[in-house]
Amino acid sequence: MVVQGANRPGRWPGVAARIEAFFVHHREQLVWVHASMFLVFLAVIFLPLFLPEPAENSSIWNNFTRFANFAMWGLWFPLVFLSVIFSGRSWCGLLCPMGAASEWANRKGLQRAIPAWVRWEGTPLISFLIITILGQTVGVRDHPEAMAEVFGGTMLAAILLGFVYGRNKRAWCRHMCPIGLLLGVFSRIGMVQFAPKRPRPGGDRFTEKTVCPTMIDIPRKEESRHCIECFRCVQPQARGGLFLRLRKPGEEIENIQKHHANLWEVGFLFMGTGIALGGFLWLVLPQYQWLRQRVGEWFVDHEIYWIGDTGPWWLMSVHPERREVFNWLDFFTIVGFMLACMLAITVILSLTTAAASWLSMKLGSQRGFRQSFTELGYQYAPVAMISLVIGLGAALFDPLSLLHEAAPRMVKLALFLTSIAWSLWLSWRILGNQQITPVKRALPLIPGLLGSLAVGAAWWPGIFGL
Ligand code: SF4
Ligand code: SF4
Repeated sequence: MVVQGANRPGRWPGVAARIEAFFVHHREQLVWVHASMFLVFLAVIFLPLFLPEPAENSSIWNNFTRFANFAMWGLWFPLVFLSVIFSGRSWCGLLCPMGAASEWANRKGLQRAIPAWVRWEGTPLISFLIITILGQTVGVRDHPEAMAEVFGGTMLAAILLGFVYGRNKRAWCRHMCPIGLLLGVFSRIGMVQFAPKRPRPGGDRFTEKTVCPTMIDIPRKEESRHCIECFRCVQPQARGGLFLRLRKPGEEIENIQKHHANLWEVGFLFMGTGIALGGFLWLVLPQYQWLRQRVGEWFVDHEIYWIGDTGPWWLMSVHPERREVFNWLDFFTIVGFMLACMLAITVILSLTTAAASWLSMKLGSQRGFRQSFTELGYQYAPVAMISLVIGLGAALFDPLSLLHEAAPRMVKLALFLTSIAWSLWLSWRILGNQQITPVKRALPLIPGLLGSLAVGAAWWPGIFGL
């Protein structure tokens, strides 16, 4: 395929050519961007530890600790997250100080072969679950010490892993980063794609013999998930390598059968939705307090009193100065509640996806059950994404209350309804690619809709209160 300037497939080819030329031209300057972001990261994460406790009436405009908290949870998290729709993993390649530090450490480090436990597909999922649950038990959204622990610890892990494993690569970004997992999965619905000029058949695969820092076999690239948009494989004048292509949002998922559908990713969509829900609901549901009470009574009845003791600060919130001290009972009930929510949502979405796949096969799809299940599981990407934005980035919506008391709730509801409609559309298109005629598609759409509505119902207390 000849790709030169605006002569390229995709939407707005002239815009794509200009963006590509700009970043290729300034590729070498990215190091300064990364260094600046590293300093900003250190300031936001660690400076609040050395400042006095914020006064009750202080705000983000006159207190750095409050500003740092809002910058992380009100701006960085939800905006980076939503940015994948418009610019894919641009955060990773262009701005993230953690990935850059990991790669820098890799150049100076031991450069050992990446072991199988790091390359295992489940590793980033486990890393995501640990960080999300730990974030809740230490109170990462409320306490600067917890923010320093979670983000400082993640930075340290990224640097250490980079120092030990890989050869001029970003093993952390490809295999272990919990944020990279989120951004990678949702970059599939984004408008940016780096596509091979001379695609080779055989499907997406991992290789260490490549210029790509996340170990993508360039000519075989089919999926956006691992591409951090570093532009290193883009040479506008060359015949090979990748080129920047703009596309309509959701296109990759609509045609997921051509883009290396992956069951682990579907598992993440289900589990990530459930764990985000659990992390929000334990804070607002009276049933959680009831459950905690019953569990506590059971332990006391059995004369197990250590359950009331406070645990280590790095595992749970211990902040007497802010009137928040968790004990082991809090720790176990929060973790248990979050895992139970994750299990419940995973079971519900697995059943609805299985029903849709079964119906699709009955109505004429030639795909096997596993393949059909994996493809249809991606329909929940928009619902999962909005769940994570509402659940983990709720602070983004708080300032809207200055406009109107009900504005945050209304915006969250509008986002959620949009995500359900989008999920339905994706399901419609995926079923179309499974050769189900438009007339027959209504039936297998129903389980998918029920799954989205179940997630919506579970979010109801989070969006509208009880
Ligand atoms: S994968 Fe993680 S560490 Fe790597 S660049 Fe993206 S957010 Fe940063
Ligand atoms: S595919 Fe290209 S742009 Fe994407 S991460 Fe690899 S080298 Fe960078």
